Amino acid sequence: MVSGSEAVLDLRSDTVTQPSAAMRTAMMTAIVGDDVLDGDPTTRALEEDVATRLGKESALFFPSGTMANQAAIWVLSEPGTEIFVDADSHIVHWELAGAAALAGVQPRMVRGTAPVMTALDLERAVRPPSYDAPDVSLVCVENTHNGAGGMITPLHELRAMYAIAQSLRVPLHMDGARLWNAHVASGVSLAELASCADTVMVSFSKGLGAPVGAALVGTRDVMTRARRARKRFGGGMRQSGMLAAAAMHGLQHHLSELSHDHANARTLAAALDGVEGARVVPPDTNIVMLDLPIACADTIVAEAKAHGIRVSAWSPTRIRAVAHRDASAARITSAAPILADVVARVIRGARS
Ligand SMILES: *Cc1c(COP(=O)(O)O)cnc(C)c1O
Repeated sequence: MVSGSEAVLDLRSDTVTQPSAAMRTAMMTAIVGDDVLDGDPTTRALEEDVATRLGKESALFFPSGTMANQAAIWVLSEPGTEIFVDADSHIVHWELAGAAALAGVQPRMVRGTAPVMTALDLERAVRPPSYDAPDVSLVCVENTHNGAGGMITPLHELRAMYAIAQSLRVPLHMDGARLWNAHVASGVSLAELASCADTVMVSFSKGLGAPVGAALVGTRDVMTRARRARKRFGGGMRQSGMLAAAAMHGLQHHLSELSHDHANARTLAAALDGVEGARVVPPDTNIVMLDLPIACADTIVAEAKAHGIRVSAWSPTRIRAVAHRDASAARITSAAPILADVVARVIRGARS
């Protein structure tokens, strides 16, 4: 193995996975061309495969999910308008205000009563047309929802939100970095999930275990415009087949295995829930959020690290642990009681 520190169980994110030996071989032996000049055959094959899986006309390989989200916003929205977006979404929190800086739009942050935006929340955010109110040009949804703890938005909610976007005559973009997880956990097909959106971003470097990459899918016309946006953003990649081969390997060999990550997240959640008043958000997929009764997340992170388990502080009162393919069931099972013990001791210590 090529991993730096085998002794440490790193649950900070599903982005920390090391490419397997087989994935590295696939990368090494990929047939490549110049994807900016006249096309890379392996990248093209990946794009066709992803478009087919998601039931869309066309797909485009991107260096990152952030760039694919931003290209979608840039292509689909209008400067000086609003885009409706979940207040706790990746687009709001972790993309450096790209929607404002690059596309010139004002994110209208939709916050409802549930942890993830619902159709009713979206409907309530719509203002009647007026001389003073900004126009809306795009709706964005996130599925699974990272900040809410890998939560799945059910198909009926997605359909209802898409219907609202259509009634507003604006497109809907789905940030589906972990749409794979939603598909595997719910049994709903990728194409059905994607049918509730005009464009969908999917990531290869999360649970699928590829080192780099994401894809954007949609109509041929929108993808033609997205290709120009990608080039403008500096995301045209030459022998990109070496990266596309890793993504393809992840799709072919790791997609169905995401169910293991979901089971491991449940194991972790069961061990942590109720410890000294801490509560887990019951995991729909591979992300475990633990809400603490007292602000001590940083201390838990430091103590867990001293015990060889890495988790992250999502907020002063929330710990995040993410199951992934380099964290086996055996390792999660043995780490869970150790982490629960750390949580219990730190909370007790903070109280006294
Ligand atoms: C990781 C992630 C992204 C961004 O992907 P990068 O490849 O890290 O840029 C976007 N949205 C969600 C929900 C994510 O989890």
